[in-house]
Amino acid sequence: MAALVLEYSAVFMSDKNVTEVVLADAKGIARAARILEAGGLVAVPTETVYGLAARADSAEAVAKIYAAKGRPDFNPLIVHVRDAKQAETFAEISDSARDLMAQHWPGPITLVLPLRRDKSLTRAVSAGLPTIALRAPSHPVMRTLLEAVDFPLAAPSANRSGFISPTSPDHVLASLDGRIDAVLDGGMSDRGVESTIVAVRADGAIEELRPGPISIAGASAVNSNAIEGPGQLASHYAPGKPVRLNATNAARDDFMIGFGDIAGDCTLSSAGDLNEAAARLYDCLHQGAASDKPCIAIAPVPEEGIGRAIIDRLRRAAAPTN
Ligand code: AMP
Ligand code: MG
Repeated sequence: MAALVLEYSAVFMSDKNVTEVVLADAKGIARAARILEAGGLVAVPTETVYGLAARADSAEAVAKIYAAKGRPDFNPLIVHVRDAKQAETFAEISDSARDLMAQHWPGPITLVLPLRRDKSLTRAVSAGLPTIALRAPSHPVMRTLLEAVDFPLAAPSANRSGFISPTSPDHVLASLDGRIDAVLDGGMSDRGVESTIVAVRADGAIEELRPGPISIAGASAVNSNAIEGPGQLASHYAPGKPVRLNATNAARDDFMIGFGDIAGDCTLSSAGDLNEAAARLYDCLHQGAASDKPCIAIAPVPEEGIGRAIIDRLRRAAAPTN
């Protein structure tokens, strides 16, 4: 195994500043698996957003994620697993956690659970916390990749820390080109916003740490200032220019993002469909960031269902960066 790792690193070291874009067919997935085995970084498609994956059992590989993203080291990462059985290797699974997994995995919900310290994950993935965030994604490419390797994958969103999340290979390259080994091209992410994150506490209570595609009835929303993860920072998903929410029309300087009856330079969903709006949200923000207009204005979006996740992201995109 050691010899294998050396051989692969030698291949990647020579191309250090080149990010390969690899089509996510069987050959491409096998290539991604080899890069990950060797401790490299691959941006991978998931149903939520593209993740920046590294093997979660290697301190060196996980350190590269923090370096490539410019991510503060107190922000823990989500570890992606195949299923509940693999999750059990790394976390204490209570009955309520088991129920949530049975109901929603594979799918866009991450569970924060007590970490089993004796196991093989590197400490850096949980940033030293006594908990671990685990998710079994449903995207077929990510599932095939997780079957192809014998370790779980740490994977935060594949963007520079604090910047807009990626839902396409181009979005990944916009902020990480030359900083990672490869992007596995699986097309657009169809859910479009990051997973729901819930913490399952020792007493069985379920707290929502981040709204997402799945709403859990009875989960209490956490509104503390104690940051358990970067999605809770006030400024996040920032396009690098002022963002105005609830805009009903565009000023001359605005790149307008429309919704429903309000049309824009980019429209989230002219039919007013919140699922479509979530899937298009980051693409519209990327277009707004790249446009020559100095400001971005966004039409009102109802805060219901996945609209809660959209509004959560937009508020953070609009918050001052300082
Ligand atoms: P991202 O890097 O954008 O995918 O965000 C990862 C998210 O994982 C963060 O927003 C955190 O909220 C969450 N997270 C990861 N590990 C933990 C943990 N141990 N406890 C709480 N939240 C976590
Ligand atoms: Mg992120």
